[in-house]
Amino acid sequence: MSTTQELLWRIPTVSVSASQVEHLTQTLEQRLRHIAKTHQDARLSTSLAAEDMVLTDALSRVAPQIHLFTLATGRLHQQTTDMVQTVQDHYGLRIQQVAPDALAVAQMVSTHGLDGFYESETARQACCQVRKVLPLEQALRGASAWVTGMRREQSVTRAQVEFEAFDERHQLVKFNPIYDWHEDEVWAYIAHHGVPIHPLHHKGYPSIGCEPCTRAIRASEDVRAGRWWWLNQNHKECGLHVK
Ligand code: SF4
Repeated sequence: MSTTQELLWRIPTVSVSASQVEHLTQTLEQRLRHIAKTHQDARLSTSLAAEDMVLTDALSRVAPQIHLFTLATGRLHQQTTDMVQTVQDHYGLRIQQVAPDALAVAQMVSTHGLDGFYESETARQACCQVRKVLPLEQALRGASAWVTGMRREQSVTRAQVEFEAFDERHQLVKFNPIYDWHEDEVWAYIAHHGVPIHPLHHKGYPSIGCEPCTRAIRASEDVRAGRWWWLNQNHKECGLHVK
């Protein structure tokens, strides 16, 4: 293994006891049951990354009526697209793939270029707007609750995340059932329950996003350091999770 590879982030070794994982699991299942009981049309947005796989695994047992969708931006890694089928086959659940409007994408690319996001923040926001923000609005239309895998510990932009909060932009309740989990607890849950994981987690990617805007990180970096790595860390959200 090269020195560079040795320095990459790795999946944490499990440091949480089985009884702690059982307690976490029960708490998570209670939270998901509460969401499903209080909201007939709750929807989980999944990136197929570790946190969303924890939620998918738990809801497959206790709240399979929660609808799953993913934003098929057109710039995802092939491994992410393949992961959709893997998860569907494993759990017998359907994941809706929400694609952006083709004409809007063509207009954005014509104005800013295919990879204009590296050159200008305006282009980056335009790309995320067309490929993510507008499709998310479409995916949440008619829903009463939105479920996400956000955790406080992930970055400074997520430090204030609560279990439940009203989302003004989408006019619905947003639930973050693992908002208070630590990274090692996520991986302990995955190991304990045998959850299938995205193959890029084995290559130094703790966070999964669009291919051109996500890179592997070093072990010493913030877990979201590989997302839009050329930006200041206070601005690393794509517009989906507006405070
Ligand atoms: S993450 Fe990158 S490629 Fe994906 S929508 Fe945003 S700017 Fe475009």
